[in-house]
Amino acid sequence: MADPAECTIKVMCRFRPLNSSEVTRGDRYIPKFQGEDTVVIGGKPYMFDRVFQSNTTQEQVYNACAQKIVKDVLEGYNGTIFAYGQTSSGKTHTMERFPLYLLINSTLLFFLSFFVSSMFPGCKQHKPTHAFCSPPSRLLFCLQVSYFEIYLDKIRDLLDVSKTNLSVHEDKNRVPYVKGCTERFVCSPEEVMDTIDEGKSNRHVAVTNMNEHSSRSHSIFLINVKQENTQTEQKLSGKLYLVDLAGSEKVSKTGAEGAVLDEAKNINKSLSSLGNVISALAEGTAYIPYRDSKMTRILQDSLGGNCRTTIVICCSPSSFNEAETKSTLMFGQRAK
Ligand code: ADP
Ligand code: MG
Repeated sequence: MADPAECTIKVMCRFRPLNSSEVTRGDRYIPKFQGEDTVVIGGKPYMFDRVFQSNTTQEQVYNACAQKIVKDVLEGYNGTIFAYGQTSSGKTHTMERFPLYLLINSTLLFFLSFFVSSMFPGCKQHKPTHAFCSPPSRLLFCLQVSYFEIYLDKIRDLLDVSKTNLSVHEDKNRVPYVKGCTERFVCSPEEVMDTIDEGKSNRHVAVTNMNEHSSRSHSIFLINVKQENTQTEQKLSGKLYLVDLAGSEKVSKTGAEGAVLDEAKNINKSLSSLGNVISALAEGTAYIPYRDSKMTRILQDSLGGNCRTTIVICCSPSSFNEAETKSTLMFGQRAK
């Protein structure tokens, strides 16, 4: 059962390197780092569980952000990893290869490679159940993934383009889920990456400017892990949401009108609902406003309570983006 003492929200902060246009413009590199957990901007220190400097490798980020969560998901907990930050701060760069890395670095790979290569050469034969069986412990494993995006409060299935406006329902245990969303069985890290590529190309199809679109929509990748011990009949299930949030930059009020203004209002509302939920969880408030946005409703059973949450705050190091970077750092501080 949910144990409040077990609920942990970790906030990590990552700075990308200056990019070529920032260098060309002559921007200054503004962050100063102190130890492994503090960054100073404009003389003000901001402290997080970890701060990653610009030269940190993907692997170091994954190890610090994901390893513990993956272990917990395999033990039947739920978890969510978010990337938050302004457009072009490195959210997608950070999140995109997480699923692959999660599989490669978890004990799951042990099971996957073991079964796929030695037990069930050609796991395709097992398509009806997609369960992987471990002889010594008699553990059956089953992995399913979903991939969808939320844009202007509409949920679009990225694995089935015909599903453009899915709704959130609750199952008999009152656990919210996206009704009708594709759940794809996967047997190997390659299949997971193929699924992500498929979702990404579907995302491109429906939009004219992918960069603009991805900065205004949240994309959510869900990994569901089910296990069953065939001797004891004990069942465990855990799930992990990987959320690449819409860009957090302020849209200038002057000039924005019509569709652009609607988008901006909608993004502000959904990001601030998320901020409210996370700070309520961090403060241990009794009432958590999950129902204020579609995203927080969907994530309800993977945020707070029986769950593990990591937020990766992504920042540009350029003096040009100082105001946005400070606002991003403040968002991260609210979760502590
Ligand atoms: P966002 O998803 O926040 O809009 P991206 O992840 O697309 O931003 O990053 C913008 C650009 O910066 C991409 O070309 C990406 O490859 C590059 N980038 C982001 N983070 C890093 C990093 N830590 N190291 C090197 N390049 C990065
Ligand atoms: Mg992105």
